Amino acid sequence: MRRVSAPQPRGNVQQIPAYVPGRPPSPREDLVVYKLSSNENPYPPLPGVVAAAHAAVEEMNRYPDMGSAALYAELAARLDVPVGDLAAATGSVALIYQLLAAYCEPGDEVVHAWRSFEAYPIAITTAAARGVRVPLTAEARHDLDAMAAAITDRTRVVLLCTPNNPTGPALTQGEVDAFLAKVPARVLVVLDEAYLEFVRLDPSRGQALDAIGTYRRHDNVVVFRTFSKAYGLAGFRVGYAVAHAEVAAALRAVSLPFGVSAVAQAAAIASLEAQPELLERVDGIVAERERLVAGLAEVGWHVPDAQGNFVWFDLGEKAAAFAAAADAAGVVVRPFAGEGCRVTVGEPEANARLLEVAAAFSRD
Ligand SMILES: *Cc1c(COP(=O)(O)O)cnc(C)c1O
Repeated sequence: MRRVSAPQPRGNVQQIPAYVPGRPPSPREDLVVYKLSSNENPYPPLPGVVAAAHAAVEEMNRYPDMGSAALYAELAARLDVPVGDLAAATGSVALIYQLLAAYCEPGDEVVHAWRSFEAYPIAITTAAARGVRVPLTAEARHDLDAMAAAITDRTRVVLLCTPNNPTGPALTQGEVDAFLAKVPARVLVVLDEAYLEFVRLDPSRGQALDAIGTYRRHDNVVVFRTFSKAYGLAGFRVGYAVAHAEVAAALRAVSLPFGVSAVAQAAAIASLEAQPELLERVDGIVAERERLVAGLAEVGWHVPDAQGNFVWFDLGEKAAAFAAAADAAGVVVRPFAGEGCRVTVGEPEANARLLEVAAAFSRD
């Protein structure tokens, strides 16, 4: 029995859904086990990145640069945006929290697709805002017409995830332009581009989204990016927003002071400097993704258009069984109970095993 006199958190706190992290593999005697459950980059960091991080470690007695000045200067130059339009944070997950903290009163509405990134409902509930979930289309894409129709007087933010985690499809420039034309200027539209670097849109689907170009044309567009996926710095927690000065300032105002560590700042800068090598690795992951998708089609699996470093298996009630079969083959995937499994594109050996599991798996 809880005593009524005990301190009580706000009502929304009890409602916050748990984040289910991708399970790490348990070591096995008989075979190497691969973790394909968190959309991580399977490659270790490049040597220059490790050296920069080591140098920052030597100064751990000092606070980091709270203004992330060197990182902002590097990003501003590369993206050709004003420094005042940037906000760095401890991963782009933190940016979602910060945006909602800055713009939502309790009960305000946040429209997002579902299923999409599982951190969205968590952040929305933490902010005591109300999530408005708009189901994906049959092709596991955002239903932008329905999302536009879901906007009300209480809507403050729309979250667009492109490519969509966990299903894979990316939004096109035409889709986003048509959507923005319907959104009132007072509503912020987030373009969450955590997997941008992996996008290779077939021109027959439309023109690939240029999120920075879109932000330049629309005062209410906010772009979120991260160093966790293509750049391989998931463990260091650093991401950034590009937004018009007032929005970026609000994001910085509500941030945790000194949140982005000196090691993360140094590693992020070194990663940007090593971009050609990093993007070469991304090309390798994309090539593996294409091989995997083609291999799946050969054995009768047609997955939604996979534009991230992961593929989605629409399995319904068989999600847990598929995850168990993958487990037995030494690959850990991310099941979503009753819906499907998201599988990260990993090392060639891991992908080969996944293909074998999929080929052998009975769907009826
Ligand atoms: C992984 C991911 C992020 C970013 O994660 P951080 O590690 O916090 O930067 C943001 N959005 C989506 C959709 C993701 O999948």
